[in-house]
Amino acid sequence: MAQDWKSFEPLLIPDIPNLQQIEVYEGNGGYDALKKILNDQNEWSRDNVVNEVKQANIRGRGGAGFNAGLKWSFMPDPDGGPRYLACNGDESEPGTFKDRKIFEFNPHLFIEGALIAAYAMTIDTIYVYIRGEYISWVEKFQKAVDDAYEKGYLGENIMGTDISIDLEVTYGAGAYICGEETSMLESLEGKRGYPRVKPPFPAQKGLWGRPTTINNIETLANVPLVINNGAQWYSDLGAEEHPGPVLYGISGHVNQPGVYEYPTGVPVLELINDVAGGIRGGKDLKALIPGGSSTPVLRADQLEGVTMNSDSLKDAGSMMGTAGMVVMDEDTDMVDVLWRIAHFYHHESCGQCTPCREGTGWLEKVLLKIKNGEGEMKDLDLLLDVGNQMEGRTICALADAAVWPVRHTINRFRDEFEARCKKSTHAVA
Ligand code: NAD
Ligand code: SF4
Repeated sequence: MAQDWKSFEPLLIPDIPNLQQIEVYEGNGGYDALKKILNDQNEWSRDNVVNEVKQANIRGRGGAGFNAGLKWSFMPDPDGGPRYLACNGDESEPGTFKDRKIFEFNPHLFIEGALIAAYAMTIDTIYVYIRGEYISWVEKFQKAVDDAYEKGYLGENIMGTDISIDLEVTYGAGAYICGEETSMLESLEGKRGYPRVKPPFPAQKGLWGRPTTINNIETLANVPLVINNGAQWYSDLGAEEHPGPVLYGISGHVNQPGVYEYPTGVPVLELINDVAGGIRGGKDLKALIPGGSSTPVLRADQLEGVTMNSDSLKDAGSMMGTAGMVVMDEDTDMVDVLWRIAHFYHHESCGQCTPCREGTGWLEKVLLKIKNGEGEMKDLDLLLDVGNQMEGRTICALADAAVWPVRHTINRFRDEFEARCKKSTHAVA
């Protein structure tokens, strides 16, 4: 990484008091990117905005890391019918709690990014879907939306132009699966949150069958940075293949858990030790889940030289996910950790697909048996086998997300799992 990351000044959540107030946001350059575009729509044609964002390579911050501008480019040409932007603020992945910081401390940066996205894709309706448990953040965010309407950044003829864009805030009812993008569309349509088969992708057939783009909240908050400073400036920040600022959510056995903003590409061990204050009680680090519960756990001895970006984490055998880092100390019971994760995915499976509905149940049941000291060696292979039967055979990624932690936690902490199984039995070949 070119910059000295420790001296990085936050861009998504800068240290400016009351930035959630629209006047304070405006006084600090807020809505300048939107003005820049709307005041010069020749220079900033819709295509030019899409291309600038594509070149910046904002990798989706909801977990999948897909190039946001490339996703925008999948929208078909306008045909005069409705088109939608659905903003995913349902963050429910265990270990992930960063979008709520944007709702609370810099909501207008996200609103501005969503407006630029809507302009670029010829969209006139934005939905913002927030997880139901975040009701106080829903209320805070609604205030920001009301203020943006009052100031003329939202609604009819934005800033005196012929552009009109509405934004509606809505929230979930506690189902993790409604954060899956097509399930969120079903929920927005007022139906039960069942994921849809892809393709067709939402750009082709989304809300009410119309072209729809779904972006994460943090992803859209990066957009004004790109427009204000240029794609080149943005792509020079942090790791080359995964640039920009990231909200690292660090939880678990550290002295100072929290959300910290730095560029991508920061060494994992420095984030844990220097940013989050090291392991509490002076204990040793045992393991890290780097980006939310579905990203494979890494042992402490696998973390040397690993940085927080997709390529480095892939080389290490994991993924960047949401950058929600769960830190575990030497006393952590990995069997218990894995059972809890399996319990979560079983509970949250929507039940549409047999491999997921039954498989997540089996994973949880067998892990509980091992946790209670009643497991046998052959159960470890059974767990891996059940996982293999689930992966890639379902409508959405929840089943895969349930399998990966099981596979990698058992493989990387096999001794610990074997020690919990009854000694009298042997693994099957
Ligand atoms: P994905 O890789 O399948 O898709 C990423 C995005 O690109 C989607 O919007 C998809 O529609 C689009 N896309 C991909 N290929 C396309 C194509 N050929 N044409 C058009 N569009 C295309 O990932 P996903 O299933 O959307 O998300 C899974 C990720 O979500 C996981 O990595 C996980 O970490 C993360 N996750 C996050 C949370 C959270 O709380 N933030 C919760 C659960 C899961
Ligand atoms: Fe539902 Fe699981 Fe199928 Fe996803 S994989 S649609 S959560 S049953």
